[in-house]
Amino acid sequence: MLVMKFGGTSVENVTAIQRLARILNHFRDQQLVIVVSAMGKTTNGLLECGRLAATGDVIQASERLAPIADLHLATVRELAQTDEVEQLESEITQRFASIDLLLTRIAAAGDLNPALSDELLANGELLSSTVVAAALRSGGLPADFVDIRAAMITTDDFTRASVIFEETDRRLRATLSQSLAAGTIPVTQGFIGSTLDGRTTTIGRGGSDYTASIIGAALDADEIRIWTDVDGILSTDPRIISGAVKVRTISFAEAAELAYFGAKVLHPSTLLPAMKKDIPVIVCNSRRPEVKGTSIVRAAPPSAALVKAIAFKRGITVVNVSSDRMLMAHGFLARLFEIFDRHETAIDMVATSEVSVSMTLDDTRNLEVILAELRQLGEVSIETDQALICLVGENLKFTPGIAARLFSTIAEINVSMISHGASAINLSFIVPDRSVEKAIHLLHDQFFSDPDPSTFEDHSAAESV
Ligand code: ADP
Ligand code: ASP
Ligand code: MG
Repeated sequence: MLVMKFGGTSVENVTAIQRLARILNHFRDQQLVIVVSAMGKTTNGLLECGRLAATGDVIQASERLAPIADLHLATVRELAQTDEVEQLESEITQRFASIDLLLTRIAAAGDLNPALSDELLANGELLSSTVVAAALRSGGLPADFVDIRAAMITTDDFTRASVIFEETDRRLRATLSQSLAAGTIPVTQGFIGSTLDGRTTTIGRGGSDYTASIIGAALDADEIRIWTDVDGILSTDPRIISGAVKVRTISFAEAAELAYFGAKVLHPSTLLPAMKKDIPVIVCNSRRPEVKGTSIVRAAPPSAALVKAIAFKRGITVVNVSSDRMLMAHGFLARLFEIFDRHETAIDMVATSEVSVSMTLDDTRNLEVILAELRQLGEVSIETDQALICLVGENLKFTPGIAARLFSTIAEINVSMISHGASAINLSFIVPDRSVEKAIHLLHDQFFSDPDPSTFEDHSAAESV
């Protein structure tokens, strides 16, 4: 059984959905579960509508909604089988009427609070899965729309809800196995869930990858396949380095580091469920399905490459706390971390000296209260507009002199915190945000100028497949 997730660009319009249908035809002799994201930029569009409504401008919010409705209606008219079109048009129109009503409620509240935001954004995935299921049926595949909210049970931390695994796994098995046993292909939503008492939630932006992995693990799938708009996991973000090369095979541990430290191709939590059940995750390009993607597996074959890929996270804030009380004292760090924990703020990197601690965060929603509490422990300063760069590769742990090579490459850039060791396969450091592009260019030239063909494949080679 395979779980396949198609991201926003892979379902963005008629052409993309036709491509998806052709891909599935290829896999039709296997049991399949399909997870989809919202079409194209729908999630951002809905969010914009919500923000406009929150300012009280319902008319402009409604106007912004119209093209989103048109896209879904036009796609379903083009792709659904004739005898289903009328019913689907009415379903979709009703959903947009309910979104309009929701926008009025948001305007009345004067605030797009997290619960309303989730209720609004969930429509993107509910609509795309309706459209994709219809398109597949019209292509002769027995697709069945499944509302994942009945199974994906989460906490009520709206916009970043945590999955309640035991309950979710049990329900996923019950709901999806039934559908599979009946010989159908369940088509369901990524990103969304529901509290036990039935309120719609979302699990964080980009969360559809994570949904696919959760479903794959619950059903003991043979493989989880993430279809996206690039050939696989690349040596770095192709938006910065157009010549980034594709990694053929990478370990769970390496890919998890990359995802966590900003490689947008996978949501940060994606690999956790798959790793637990040792299910391979394949990342591949829905526009070029003939190209073999990147395989993420427990153990990657030995490689000569020092670095497998470089990730980065922008907009990082560094918080420094210094206090004489730290000197020879125990319990200081515990008190400090407890503050972040209580305010549900994750720290990515930590460096300590005798009397000071530096920590990096990308979630600054609760920064003000955190700073106020930290000031009771010592002197506090912050540096905003920083970025974290992270080199990943299993050989980093065996290679002497790697730090010297790395830092001489970017000698002209001001590096402020360095971490290597917590996971020996990752070497991370902080630079000013404005220097990210330059640092990535220098590092990519240094470590990928002559990529080992047994580990990497360049795009021109892929094109000739
Ligand atoms: P989807 O909508 O399919 O989930 P995303 O836009 O979320 O797609 O993720 C794919 C994008 O991730 C790519 O288009 C690319 O710009 C970006 N990306 C960042 N880092 C990497 C990387 N190391 N390898 C591949 N893609 C990356
Ligand atoms: N549609 C959601 C988002 O844009 C989830 C996803 O794409 O994975 O964040
Ligand atoms: Mg994504």
